[in-house]
Amino acid sequence: MSIDEQIYPWLTDQWAHVIQQHGRGRLPHALLLSGPAGIGKAAFGSALAHVLLCHNPQDGAPCGRCRSCELIASGHHPDRLFLHPEEPGKPIRVDQVRELTNVLHSTAQQGGYRIMIMEPAEAMNVAAANALLKTLEEPGQDTLLILVCHQLGQLMPTIRSRCQRIEFSLPSNEQSRGWLAQKLGMGEDEAEKLLAIAQGAPLGAVALKQGELLDLRRSFMSGLADLLRDRTDAIALAQKLHKEELIHLLDWWLSLLADIVRLQSGAENADLNNVDMTKMLSAVANRADRVRIFTLVDRVQDERKSLMLRHNPNRQLLLEKLMFDWRALIR
Ligand SMILES: [Zn+2]
Repeated sequence: MSIDEQIYPWLTDQWAHVIQQHGRGRLPHALLLSGPAGIGKAAFGSALAHVLLCHNPQDGAPCGRCRSCELIASGHHPDRLFLHPEEPGKPIRVDQVRELTNVLHSTAQQGGYRIMIMEPAEAMNVAAANALLKTLEEPGQDTLLILVCHQLGQLMPTIRSRCQRIEFSLPSNEQSRGWLAQKLGMGEDEAEKLLAIAQGAPLGAVALKQGELLDLRRSFMSGLADLLRDRTDAIALAQKLHKEELIHLLDWWLSLLADIVRLQSGAENADLNNVDMTKMLSAVANRADRVRIFTLVDRVQDERKSLMLRHNPNRQLLLEKLMFDWRALIR
């Protein structure tokens, strides 16, 4: 995989802080980069690892010329390790953690730091988290663990408490919009719409635009609308979508439900995340009972959580159940 490594303009405060900490020799053994997905936390972690591994950094930037910088430019530095689930939405397994922590405990190949960047940390199942705890308790010298976490509530408290947390939040709408418009060469209006769908996360918006996610979202949304009008049924729709990356579907679902709650609380259409779906959202908001909506929110959140922790959930069944509940909102 290509390793995105940069400090996005909205993360410069956190960057200055951590570089200053390093300059004073106060960097801890474990950092927890916490905040919403799609704002550049992993790129921040990679960039930090690069600076720490560089033999001759200047003003918090790598030199670009030393052996370490050469290795990083070539795509692999033996002392900068990445740990991800094998597929998005799957758990990080205990053997993956053990394998990498074994490397961490061996001697650094280039002298200096050995650094592991894990993303998303909340994807660790219990066994994996317990294996990591041992390393957090006895990290060894010059070891740095960088845990990137998008859902802090889903990370084991014992892991959380052993890391120094750096909080990241969404950039301002204005900053994101300007950045996105420039990055994708589009007007600010279009950037604004894309950002709303990505729930304000600029890199999430880029991924939407560049990947096939917009198509998937379109087919998911029209499927949900068809379901409400009985033009399809839960089983057929689940059959159609169950091989897609469910985590996206569940996130979009939560975003729709949040919009419905907003509408019921008197929000204007323009304030919604899913402005392209106002017709469907208003129809549900006008007829659905609050309790049922919140029950569905809980179910989607539970499924989202367990999707990350179970190896092989029955994806079709998972979607079917939620779709029945969705249809039942306005029965
Ligand atoms: Zn260097």
